Amino acid sequence: MSLVGVEGDLATGNVVVSMRMELLDAILEGAKRLFPRETILLLRGKKTKDTIVVTDLLVPPLANYGHGFAHIPIYMMPMDFSIVGTVHSHPSGNFNPSPTDLNHMFGRVLMIVAAPYKGEANVAAYNRNGDRIEFCVTET
Ligand SMILES: [Zn+2]
Repeated sequence: MSLVGVEGDLATGNVVVSMRMELLDAILEGAKRLFPRETILLLRGKKTKDTIVVTDLLVPPLANYGHGFAHIPIYMMPMDFSIVGTVHSHPSGNFNPSPTDLNHMFGRVLMIVAAPYKGEANVAAYNRNGDRIEFCVTET
C-alpha cells in the first residue's frame, strides 16, 4: 500500500530529473554539514511529460538524521502532491539505493547524493523501480 498514487508512467523509465544549480548546491552543502550523518529533504516540483523539474527543497517533518538510514515517519508526510520525491545522503560514498531506501520510497524520484558531495558526479536519481534515471542541472 502506498500513500502516493503510482501512475505507472515511470515504469517505462525514460524520465529525466532536473534542478537548478543553486538547489543542488544547497543539497550538497546540507549533506556536508551533517556528515557523517545522513541528511534527507523533500523535493517539491512539477512533472511534465518526460521531465520532473525540482523547484524547491523542503525539510521533512520530524526527520531523523541517524547513522545508516535517514528516515521520515511516513504518516507525518504532507499530503502535498507537489512533492515529487526525496533526496538523501550516503556518507559511505556509495550511491546505490539500499533495499530500505526503495521500500520507503516516497513520490516518484529517489535521489541520492554520495560523499564527498562535490557536485553532479556525486548525484544519482532512481525511479520507483530502483532503475537509474537521468539527472541534469540547469543554470536557471
Ligand atoms: Zn540510502
